[in-house]
Order: sequence, then structure tokens, then C-alpha cells
Amino acid sequence: MSISRRRFVAASAGCASYLAAAAPLLSASALRRWSGAGARRMVAQTPFARIEELGDGMFAIVSTPLDGDFTTVCNGGIVGGSEGTLVVEAFATPEGAAWAAEQARALTGRWPTHVVVSHYHGDHSAGPAGYAEGGESAPALRATAVTRDLVQGSPGDEAAKAPWADVVVVPEDGPGEIDLGSRTVAVVPRGGHTASDLSVEVDGGEGPVWCGDLVWNAMFPNYMDAVPSRLSRSVRALQAIAADAFVPGHGPLADAEAMSRYVALIDSVEEAARDAWRRGINSDDAAEAYEVPVELGEWMMFSPNYHQRAIQAWMDELAGPEY
Ligand SMILES: [Zn+2]
Repeated sequence: MSISRRRFVAASAGCASYLAAAAPLLSASALRRWSGAGARRMVAQTPFARIEELGDGMFAIVSTPLDGDFTTVCNGGIVGGSEGTLVVEAFATPEGAAWAAEQARALTGRWPTHVVVSHYHGDHSAGPAGYAEGGESAPALRATAVTRDLVQGSPGDEAAKAPWADVVVVPEDGPGEIDLGSRTVAVVPRGGHTASDLSVEVDGGEGPVWCGDLVWNAMFPNYMDAVPSRLSRSVRALQAIAADAFVPGHGPLADAEAMSRYVALIDSVEEAARDAWRRGINSDDAAEAYEVPVELGEWMMFSPNYHQRAIQAWMDELAGPEY
């Protein structure tokens, strides 16, 4: 178990050290937001994550990797029903997943029966072996076939990937449902952050919405695998849901105002990329000139090249057959 964790941390050491170095540069208000000021009732807190209560039997896991503890890295959640407990995401390490499972058991009275992984990136998908711990039977691991294939085809620890051989495939032709007894949870296929992303939506969209990495809050999004126009459509579809809380893939919980700010951010990236494309400026120079509009507040950089990646992703699309 610890081997895969060490590998992950080694693989992402560039990000970790950048993040740790940048933390002291954040303003007091940004730091307060990250550390959970204004958060909902907190039911657990560790150096790497906190758990906030979202409603009856529903909890958000908000990871706090700013100090370099990469046990969970991504956000996730816990949804309990009379017949089952769902955990959203498999996190960056088996230790992170095992911790989430223990928290689920403490908060809902049941070890997870279902796990949904939103997309293939390692910070969401590397830990499922941790769900087989605790002397309990492992939950059903649910993801799309595209996500499963991308995980299995990525380099990494084969032992840590073993649970992916038994994935329960989530269809991509329309929303699916997970029956937890007293409540059903919708699992909705979307895309744009990667080739295949899932959101998890409770109570017909009136409850919380787990957005995966389609949505980031107070942290500039990663466009590594993005198809930006599809991302933009997916984000707008999520924004249209009348949810009381949006759980982003990274960063503190988002409300409607935070969703508007995020939409304005990705629109500002699109505008900068289209303008540079028209004027024949490359993505390095365009990223150098790009600044997040001040009215959108501070957006933490997980890695210093994220502006360039975002603009380049748009340019790749603009160079394609649709434009
Ligand atoms: Zn992520």
C-alpha cells in the first residue's frame, strides 16, 4: 500500500513543492477559504482533508493538500441511505480511500457499498485497494468503460490498479441510478475535463452535486486532457442545476456565486486563447500575458504551467476540423 503512495508523491513532487512554496503567498482571505472558514458543520478534520456535513447522511470530503500531505488530494463525498453507502472518488492513495471508508462507516453506520470514480486521473483513481481494508467486503467500484481503460492503460503500480479489473461499468448513453434504499443517486455521464467525466447528483439535483474535475474552485483548473468547448458546455449544464451545494474536484465547496465566478474564469481563458489565436501568438506568450481578471478573486495554481496548458488546449481545438 505504501509503495503506491510513495510513487504517487514522487510523481507529483513538482506540483507538491510548488504548492507548498506558493501557500504563504496567498492572501489572508484565500487562506481562510482554503482552511474552511465559512464552511458547513465540520465532522472530521485531518492535515489532508476535512469533512463537511451537507444534509441528512450526506457529507463532502474537501482535501487540503496545501501543506504537501497528498493522502487524498481530490475532493469527494459520502452519501448514506437505508440500504447502502456511496463514496465519491477513490482518491490519490489506498490510505486516503481507507480513511474515507472509515469515515463513511463512522458517519453512516456502514462501510461503503458503492464507489463512483469521476474520471481516470490518478488523484481520483489510484486508491481503490484501500476500500478492501477494514475487514469488510469491498464496495462495487463504478466508473465508465473509458475511465477504466484509461486507468488500466496508464503507467503505475499494477497492484494498486488490481481493483479496476472488477469495475461495474457506468453506461455513457444517459444518467444511471444507484439505489441506496431511502434515496437514489444519479450518476450522469459528462465530459470535457477528460474524455469521460461523471457527476453524482442527489435528490433530483436539489441535493448536492459532485462535479468531479469539471469544476474547480479557487484553484485554476487543469486542462491537461481537456476539450475546452465540451468542458464549457458541461460546466454550464452543471451550473443550471438548482443545487444547494456544488462539490468541486478541487478547492472549497462552491455555491451559485462560486459557480458563476468559475464560468467567468473559463470564459476569460477562452477569450484570451481566441484572441491570441487570431493574432498568431503562441500559447507560451499568450499565457505570459494572461491574467485572471481581478474581479474573479484569487485562483491558486497547482502547477505554474496551467495557464499555458489551458490556452494551448483551446488552440488545439481551434486548429481542428470544427473551426
Ligand atoms: Zn483532480
